Amino acid sequence: MVDVGVIGAGFVGAASANAIALSNACSELVLLDKNHDRAVAEAADIAHGAAIAGSTRVRAGDYEDLKGAKVIVIAAGVNQKPGESRLDLLARNSAIFGEIVPEVAKYAPDAVVVIATNPVDIMTDVTRSLHPNPELVLGTGTLLDTARFRGLISQASNVSARYIHATVLGEHGDSSVLCWDSARVAGLTLDTFMLQSGAEWSEARRSEIEEKVRGAAAKIIAGKQATYYGIGASVMKIVSGILGDRRGIYTLSTPSDYGVCLSLPCVLGKNGIIQVLKPNLSAKEQEGLEKSAAVLKETRDSMKD
Ligand code: NAD
Repeated sequence: MVDVGVIGAGFVGAASANAIALSNACSELVLLDKNHDRAVAEAADIAHGAAIAGSTRVRAGDYEDLKGAKVIVIAAGVNQKPGESRLDLLARNSAIFGEIVPEVAKYAPDAVVVIATNPVDIMTDVTRSLHPNPELVLGTGTLLDTARFRGLISQASNVSARYIHATVLGEHGDSSVLCWDSARVAGLTLDTFMLQSGAEWSEARRSEIEEKVRGAAAKIIAGKQATYYGIGASVMKIVSGILGDRRGIYTLSTPSDYGVCLSLPCVLGKNGIIQVLKPNLSAKEQEGLEKSAAVLKETRDSMKD
């Protein structure tokens, strides 16, 4: 029986399906796209790698094939063009979700639904409004931004990203909040760690990291039209966390006290988000989060006009 359905077999859907298949997180994965031939071709290619990595069965299918799925990933939509903001994608992708989400709710009503399509926070809100069980819906949110942030701190500190706790909260987009004050390397603040290790550390270095995190997607898009490996790995982490009921903590897009979906640290289990944490934020971070919420709210509300 199918465990995972991935809707959208473009760059992001295919990279996600590939990462899931190679991780052996599930037994059977179905890939779906409006362009069925594309889904068939991607599924065949991914299935070949899956046979090397382990035993995940991968095939293309239709909505009926999603029956019994535990997780559905939605990566369908139109891609961000060079110079286009994520928020500009909204109208086009909302119409596409109006077709997809009712089918998902019909054939896999109990599946956790993971949204990757941008603007991801608003698309999470849109999906929740279209799904009969909105508590099953979550967005990849700033998980990728958090990975970029940890990766850059890892480079600056010369320590594996695995031992760095640092989060990006709020919008997956221009108003995201990089939480410097709560960032830790093995429990030490960044200032303390960098001082002890003798690594170069200054306000300029932090600004450089901040710019690289915010500008990462645009830079990759300028070079190769789309980003997909990083988000594919992020989706894989979420899907395996759900299937394995692992109780990991990830920055995911979920409803907040601000009246919009945005990223906060969330405990993830087999039914989706179990708990949304309220992190200890500095005054500057708190202000940043409120501004991020306001940006999202304005956009979401402008849809209703
Ligand atoms: P893409 O154009 O390569 O793929 C989109 C796919 O969706 C296409 O194959 C298209 O046929 C399919 N599709 C369109 N309408 C459909 C429908 N009604 N039903 C089924 N399939 C349909 O785009 P991509 O590069 O894969 O990006 C997909 C989305 O992911 C974009 O919105 C992009 O901005 C987003 N994205 C998100 C993150 C993140 O961190 N959340 C990162 C990168 C990209």
